[in-house]
Amino acid sequence: MSSSNSSSAVRSSAKHAAERIQQHLPPNSNHAVSLSSSSLNLPSRTSIIAPGVAHSSRPKDRPSASSISNASSVSASSPSTRRSGTPVRRSQSKDFDDDNDPGRVRVSVRVRPRNGEELISDADFADLVELQPEIKRLKLRKNNWNSESYRFDEVFTDTASQKRVYEGVAKPVVEGVLSGYNGTIMAYGQTGTGKTYTVGKIGKDDAAERGIMVRALEDILLNASSASISVEISYLQLYMETIQDLLAPEKNNISINEDAKTGEVSVPGATVVNIQDLDHFLQVLQVGETNRHAANTKMNTESSRSHAILTVYVRRAMNEKSEKAKPESLGDKAIPRVRKSKLLIVDLAGSERINKSGTDGHMIEEAKFINLSLTSLGKCINALAEGSSHIPTRDSKLTRLLRDSFGGSARTSLIITIGPSARYHAETTSTIMFGQRAMKIVNMVKLKEEFDYESLCRKLETQVDHLTAEVERQNKLRNSEKLELEKRLRECENSFAEAEKNAVTRSKFLEKENTRLELSMKELLKELQLQKDQCDLMHDKAIQLEMKLKNTKQQQQLENSAYEAKLADASQVYEKKIAELVQRVEDEHARSTNAEHQLNEMKNILSKQQKSIHEQEKGNYQYQRELAETTYTYESKIAELQKKLEDEDARSNAAEEQLRQMKRLISDRQVLSQENEEANELKIKLEELSQMYESTVDELQTVKLDYDDLLHQKEKLGEEIRDMKERLLLEEKQRKQMESELSKLKKNLRESEIVVEEKRYMKDDLSKGSSESGAQTGSQRSQGLKKSLSGQRATMARLCEEVGIQKILQLIKSEDLEVQIQAVKVVANLAAEEANQVKIVEEGGVEALLMLVQSSHNSTILRVASGAIANLAMNEKSQDLIMNKGGAQLLAKMVTKTDDPQTLRMVAGALANLCGNGEDKIKNFGSAQFLNISIYLYQYMCSLYSICKSKDI
Ligand code: ADP
Ligand code: MG
Repeated sequence: MSSSNSSSAVRSSAKHAAERIQQHLPPNSNHAVSLSSSSLNLPSRTSIIAPGVAHSSRPKDRPSASSISNASSVSASSPSTRRSGTPVRRSQSKDFDDDNDPGRVRVSVRVRPRNGEELISDADFADLVELQPEIKRLKLRKNNWNSESYRFDEVFTDTASQKRVYEGVAKPVVEGVLSGYNGTIMAYGQTGTGKTYTVGKIGKDDAAERGIMVRALEDILLNASSASISVEISYLQLYMETIQDLLAPEKNNISINEDAKTGEVSVPGATVVNIQDLDHFLQVLQVGETNRHAANTKMNTESSRSHAILTVYVRRAMNEKSEKAKPESLGDKAIPRVRKSKLLIVDLAGSERINKSGTDGHMIEEAKFINLSLTSLGKCINALAEGSSHIPTRDSKLTRLLRDSFGGSARTSLIITIGPSARYHAETTSTIMFGQRAMKIVNMVKLKEEFDYESLCRKLETQVDHLTAEVERQNKLRNSEKLELEKRLRECENSFAEAEKNAVTRSKFLEKENTRLELSMKELLKELQLQKDQCDLMHDKAIQLEMKLKNTKQQQQLENSAYEAKLADASQVYEKKIAELVQRVEDEHARSTNAEHQLNEMKNILSKQQKSIHEQEKGNYQYQRELAETTYTYESKIAELQKKLEDEDARSNAAEEQLRQMKRLISDRQVLSQENEEANELKIKLEELSQMYESTVDELQTVKLDYDDLLHQKEKLGEEIRDMKERLLLEEKQRKQMESELSKLKKNLRESEIVVEEKRYMKDDLSKGSSESGAQTGSQRSQGLKKSLSGQRATMARLCEEVGIQKILQLIKSEDLEVQIQAVKVVANLAAEEANQVKIVEEGGVEALLMLVQSSHNSTILRVASGAIANLAMNEKSQDLIMNKGGAQLLAKMVTKTDDPQTLRMVAGALANLCGNGEDKIKNFGSAQFLNISIYLYQYMCSLYSICKSKDI
């Protein structure tokens, strides 16, 4: 269960990772995009040979004392050490003095711990190798007493941790890659010695077990987060000289591309995935591993036969400020630089095949194809180690891919893995020798820095775009401004033309106006002259009038002065008189005072004197009255004079006014003379209009009166209509009542008809007088008839009571023939009863029936009506009435109208009834009419006879 679960989990995670890969695939998987340098006339690549870069950074945590002691404990525990005891012969050992050479291929050796099987099988054997990690040496036992010692760059014992191996083998290369140098890390060794463990272990559950691939990416990604670094990977498998993409297994024959100029090797068909973080990488790697496993299972091969190549592309944009090197400039624009480096981590196929291929024979073909690459790699390494001029790198795909890694520009680190078992002596020795040869190879480490033409191009393109847009905008702006200006110019031109036109028309108009004004001025001047003349004339007149006025004024003044003199004289006279009178009054007063004095003196004569004083006072009163009168007369005279003066003033004012009026009149006269004529005309018209108006008013008055009359009439008519309507409604109501009554009557009539029929039957039966039974039946029927007759009569009586004869008689006048017939029938039936006869006569039934007889042409009506008259004629009163109304004549006339025997019978009956009242009533009948009646009576009798005869009565 758990295994299936885990496998499904692997599958799902692999699927998920594959999806992530797809998402992160760059749009152009062809990684080798280069910009033509010739177009920019710039060097396409700058290679800077680093002076002393490479191995400056050694692993920080050097092997600790404990690890060293551990390592030595391995060798101490090894039987060979224990057994040999002899000093190690260093026959082929070589000390490398080129430690400081940064370009030398670094080779480390790692011994795998014994596995379970080896622990058992090799228990009695001495270890094949003895490790001396502290002096970085490895002793390979040749036999019990002989051993070879080899120096390596790093020696890792079976207990060395993955971390220490990474730091010793890979970290310097990774750091170089981050600095812009290409790097290669390879694992070489016999199958099962731990190459994959060292290089490709994912360490999903235990992070401490992570191999070089994971740790290298971890380091690169850590740096990538702080610097502007992009990380991309491709993962390939090389088997039988075929390159298969482990991230897209469907790509199973990818070709290698070599740049002819630069010699740079690329695999354009490979899937390149941009790595975001470590988890992402782990997923991608897991997908690759899964695909590798699946591919090998499918091809029935082992993973040990194939090479796995992980390529990490690191691209670092250079921060120019921090860089010492001055950036190249293009105009004033700095070209961004980018450092491209590539790290190859190669898990090589098992090396044992090389050795076995030649010896065994059965693997020759496989060796040719499967491990051609590995053989070729060995050859190349040999050639490089021997300093040969020809390096056969083109022999295989692996060597082509790794061309740069050995003897090229990359920094290369090789880890050789060996097993501890002495059983694989040959393989181990071969591996060690391979490592030793590789150690001799020195690369020309180059820093590869390029101008980032892509980003420059992008930058420039954006700038060009921006500038183009700006230019376009400016052009547009300029165009719109130009258009605007043109528009304005046009407008200005138009307005100018308009203004010019206006000015011309205006000047023309002004000229015209000028001439007109000149003319009018001339006329005005003429008029003015005329007016001036008139004015002069008027002025003369005015002067004359003024002169006159002056004269009048002078006269008036003279008169006034005369009056004033007279007045003054008179006033003087009166004043004198007044003064005299005052004097006299004073004298009198003095006298009175004297008298008073005398009174005091002569108290005795007071009474006498008092009398005289009284008289004197009387006289004084008289004098005062006279004075008052004189004063009044003078005052009135003064008032008269003043009035005259005022009159004179008014006259002078009137004269002035007259003068003014005259002036005005002179001016108005001309106008008035014209206006007078018009006024006269208008007056005439007005008079006419007023006459018309008066006549119209009169007419209106009459119309109004008519209207009032009409209104009055209308009201009357309205009232009449209302009355009529009411009457109509009443009549309608009555009609409806009558109709209902009629329906009742119809019903009754039907019943009565049945009775009549019954009667007839009874009559027939009686006349036949046949059998007893028949007689019995007849008597029974007559009894029934009697019953029905009495019933009918009762109905009639009830009808008479309920409906009233009057209404039934009205129905006789109905326009509906059926109604008439039924009504006449009812009346005829009613008339059969003596009690009803009187009522019918009283209600005008005779007249109604006679009218019907006279007017109707319906035989039934005539028959029934004459029957009814015959019935009524039985009554004496009605006989008179019938006779008076000319009923006999009408009946006689009817005889000529019809030849219906029934009708004739009825007529005859009626006449007979009438005749029954004596000759005197028949006297009025004409002899001819009577003769007619007699003839018809005779005919009737004859017909009756013939009927009786036919029925044997
Ligand atoms: P190779 O890839 O060279 O054929 P592997 O890496 O597959 O060999 O190793 C074979 C076995 O040995 C694996 O089971 C691996 O776990 C184990 N092994 C190899 N090296 C070590 C080591 N250093 N420590 C523990 N186990 C190891
Ligand atoms: Mg392996």
